[in-house]
Amino acid sequence: MVSYGLSEQGPYRAENQDAFRISPEGIGVLAVVCDGMGGAAGGRLASDMAAESFISFSSISLELSDGSEDADILRLAVTAANRKIYEFAYDSEEYAGMGTTLVGGVFRPDRALLVNVGDSRAYRIARDGITRLTRDHSLVQQMVDAGELTPEQARRHPRRNIITRAVGTEPFVTSDIFEVPAREGDVFLLCSDGLTGAVEDPELHRLTLAAPDAESACRALIDTALSRGTRDNATAVVIIYGKENADNGE
Ligand code: CA
Repeated sequence: MVSYGLSEQGPYRAENQDAFRISPEGIGVLAVVCDGMGGAAGGRLASDMAAESFISFSSISLELSDGSEDADILRLAVTAANRKIYEFAYDSEEYAGMGTTLVGGVFRPDRALLVNVGDSRAYRIARDGITRLTRDHSLVQQMVDAGELTPEQARRHPRRNIITRAVGTEPFVTSDIFEVPAREGDVFLLCSDGLTGAVEDPELHRLTLAAPDAESACRALIDTALSRGTRDNATAVVIIYGKENADNGE
């Protein structure tokens, strides 16, 4: 299994409020992407704290687990990140209200478990197609679910950036878990809306599979988003299931 991540500020934002982490080697592949929000330095700090906290909590717990508790561990890791940010911002005027999206995954040899809050996404990409694994917690997704918007209208809706759940803004957060089988040749993509707002799913599929490796895939995805004039930060983490499934990190 190989993995790579890339995050770009882009030309329109004063700072990069996206963050990502990929676990150190030796504990299976674990990865997370967060997209922060909040004034002052709040957004950047929130995404960084959430990503760091998520990885450190889950890596310790996963090391001690046989795999049967993956879903609980991911949920608890999100809860821990939520508490950390909420408590940090609670007493602060400067950081009040800061929060972040989170999409994270643990990638086992035969399956992947994903967790999400907000509108950062996970995809599975295979030869025969691309599947969106997570469900956005966003205003436009609610409107699509209610039949008020088509997915195409949602992409252009002026309030498409409004998320209905975030990590760190409330004392408690509910996350969603998704489990999918995985096999050799599968590619998983974790990304922020700076990518998906500019590059549609069929193109994510094409660009990822055309790249020779995980690093080139990330580069192609982010460069395409930036060349389209995305006015946001853009982040992609790519995990490729190879022959050497027992390995990771390289
Ligand atoms: Ca964003």
